[in-house]
Amino acid sequence: MLGKIHVAVVPADQASIGIARRLRRSLVEILGLDVSVDQIAGGFPRQAFNDSRGQYDAYKILSSFEGIQAGLLLLVTDLDLYCTGLNFCFGLAHRRAAIISLHRLRPESYGEPRDENLLVLRAEKEAVHEICHLIGLRHCPSPLCVMHFSNCIGDTDVKRKLPCDACLERIKSTVIQFNP
Ligand SMILES: [Zn+2]
Ligand SMILES: [Zn+2]
Repeated sequence: MLGKIHVAVVPADQASIGIARRLRRSLVEILGLDVSVDQIAGGFPRQAFNDSRGQYDAYKILSSFEGIQAGLLLLVTDLDLYCTGLNFCFGLAHRRAAIISLHRLRPESYGEPRDENLLVLRAEKEAVHEICHLIGLRHCPSPLCVMHFSNCIGDTDVKRKLPCDACLERIKSTVIQFNP
């Protein structure tokens, strides 16, 4: 579907490498993107860490990746992220770079047993969501659409990993602008 668009999936820490590799396959299958998994990122800027919250500011991290060369970037981290005005965020997209955090996608974060397949499924949904933002999609009112905003993990579990028909139509017209 989006074959000409290249996405570099970059694990930001050791704990994210395995998931980053599995996401590569999913992004090819779900969105038809051209995806590579790049080397582990060299750490986040110190100023992105908020001492009093014990979390990283997702926007500050993405701002430090603004100089990327071509295509789109998806960072995958195990660190806990927040966005201004929110207690936490599962991910964020800004210009040509996006980030997702596995921290609150892990069933263990909710006192449930470890479940790698559930973690991957949730990460797929968040990755597709953020990449669709990068190509111009906004939030969708349909709770089953991948572009629905996840306020909590229950929202992520309810939604599917695909955009709804209306969002798919929007992608088609956006991609024409994206790949003139
Ligand atoms: Zn969003
Ligand atoms: Zn939708």
